Amino acid sequence: MIANVLTIAGTDPSGGAGIQADIKTFSALGVYATSVITAVVAQNTQGVRSFVALEPQFVAEQIDAVFDDVRIDAVKIGMVANAAIAEAIAARLRHHRPHNIVLDPVMVAKSGHHLLDPEAVASVRDLLIPLATVITPNLPEAAVLLGIETSWSIAEMKERASDLARLGSEWVLIKGGHLAGTDQSVDFLHDGKNTIELSAPRISTDNDHGTGCTLSAAIAASLPSNDVPESVRRAKGYMHEALLASGKLDVGHGHGPLHHF
Ligand code: PLP
Repeated sequence: MIANVLTIAGTDPSGGAGIQADIKTFSALGVYATSVITAVVAQNTQGVRSFVALEPQFVAEQIDAVFDDVRIDAVKIGMVANAAIAEAIAARLRHHRPHNIVLDPVMVAKSGHHLLDPEAVASVRDLLIPLATVITPNLPEAAVLLGIETSWSIAEMKERASDLARLGSEWVLIKGGHLAGTDQSVDFLHDGKNTIELSAPRISTDNDHGTGCTLSAAIAASLPSNDVPESVRRAKGYMHEALLASGKLDVGHGHGPLHHF
């Protein structure tokens, strides 16, 4: 049976990030895509211009409409925009109790635009992270979640993975993509006890819009049929191929999208 996977996230009308990247990822990986929109974002490959967050109650109604009808095998949460939406998502997920939840704690786009109200960090940390099977922070997001200021090293990433696990998710994938001066992109996957190092050769490309969205969506697509370490390995493999294939696209003048196939 084909898995049904839900993304709860913001939009990207230029098709590279957010809900659109998630749906493309789900389809490319052979699962059925459902989607709940938190915010409508005016953005393209050059950056985020502005967004309108939907009413929290309306986000909740979309979630209920999906769960009341469709068996959901995994959920990916991306941009939640503000604290009230984070609270609404947490309440509805506590009610519907899906098995696999991937939380990408989206905060700031590459263009520097805030996609999460800074005052909402506590709601994401305290209400959504404890519901998650796996969280996928990049280094700036990890620092904000831990309330620390640091210049990251590989050793510190590994050490901080256990601090992040104490926030309450089953697994933490801390992503080292932002680490300067390394030819490998190193991530650590930690479950509160054991740490798995996952590295991949760094790909030099400007087509990196929506990489975080794609990775977390690919993990969610895999979780109905694989455990967390295998899902993360597969998702990183998918990302690698999608990044390599991005050169076939001619989309926009900024950070181009990945090619999903
Ligand atoms: N737009 C939306 C709706 C997102 O959820 C995200 C990140 O998760 C982005 C944009 C970020 O895009 P970028 O990869 O360019 O930082």
